[in-house]
Amino acid sequence: MSRKQIINQLKKSRRVLLCSHIHPDGDAIGSLIGMGLALKEMGKDIWIYNESPVPAIYHFLPSIHRIKHHPGEIGTYDTVVVMDCSDLHRIGDAAGAVNRIPIIINIDHHITNTRFGSFQLIDPDASASAEIVFRLIKAMKIKITPAIAYAIYTGIMTDTGSFRFANTNPEAFDICHEMVRLGADPHKVAHHVYETISLSRIKLLTMLFDTIELTKNSNMSIMTLTQNMLRETGTRIQDVNGLINYAKAIENVKVAALLYERAKEKSRLIDESHFHISLRSDGSVDVAKIAASFGGGGHTRAAGFDIQGSLPALKKELYELSDRL
Ligand code: AMP
Ligand code: MN
Ligand code: MN
Repeated sequence: MSRKQIINQLKKSRRVLLCSHIHPDGDAIGSLIGMGLALKEMGKDIWIYNESPVPAIYHFLPSIHRIKHHPGEIGTYDTVVVMDCSDLHRIGDAAGAVNRIPIIINIDHHITNTRFGSFQLIDPDASASAEIVFRLIKAMKIKITPAIAYAIYTGIMTDTGSFRFANTNPEAFDICHEMVRLGADPHKVAHHVYETISLSRIKLLTMLFDTIELTKNSNMSIMTLTQNMLRETGTRIQDVNGLINYAKAIENVKVAALLYERAKEKSRLIDESHFHISLRSDGSVDVAKIAASFGGGGHTRAAGFDIQGSLPALKKELYELSDRL
């Protein structure tokens, strides 16, 4: 489906819901705000939604207060734009209701995208979903305000790990250059994203480092984050993004895994724990494939999935996986 058809559709749309994945990262948040404000500039009635709280490091973004944590009146929307989600379920509990909105526009850069929705704008070569949003905003000739510039810049900067990850492409620099010209202050973004760490987070880091283990052949590192550790340090999961990168930075490690024990409320009907597994690869292993085999998804070098089970059983599976790498 071409960008032109999406633009034609958006021109006709009147009331638009904007969604992105639960536990949003900088790209999910940047895409939401960038696209939301652009549609508002076009005179559309918008509602920006994310199920989860916004991590404190992103509270500085202009218009961040526009992100609501309930999806509003689903029956009133003619269009929904879903960003940075490889499948619709990634938006969380509202997926079933959102699926009934007449027009679903799917904007994403995950290679595992299921191509859900009425229109798709999917580019696995894009550095971030915010890059695709930027191109769409440009093609629609909408003025990029400083608030939009901050959103797009933050989306690309965080998804490329500050222009270090393998998805860093020339466009990432070109677009971010333009966003800085249009009002995004790189120091301000970096300060909020990287230099506002709480002491409790540092305490959590030391606990987390203690859990790191390497598999027999040292090609896989495993880190474990439990609800107990969050409780003991007084930290919240939305404040602990990016920790897996420490496990990935260990020499000779091909794949790093972070086993995160989800809070009990979500799984109170079952006895077993519910884990989110984040995977990162050095590029020699396709972790999107591994995640997909467990019902998750992502990119070649960064992927994830959700699973129920005990910690020892889960680790055993990962050790077996490591033998096959
Ligand atoms: P994370 O595991 O949260 O660090 O996410 C790494 C990448 O994998 C991101 O691009 C996510 O969008 C994707 N991802 C994580 N969990 C899932 C899942 N359960 N289903 C599909 N994609 C996922
Ligand atoms: Mn994301
Ligand atoms: Mn992304």
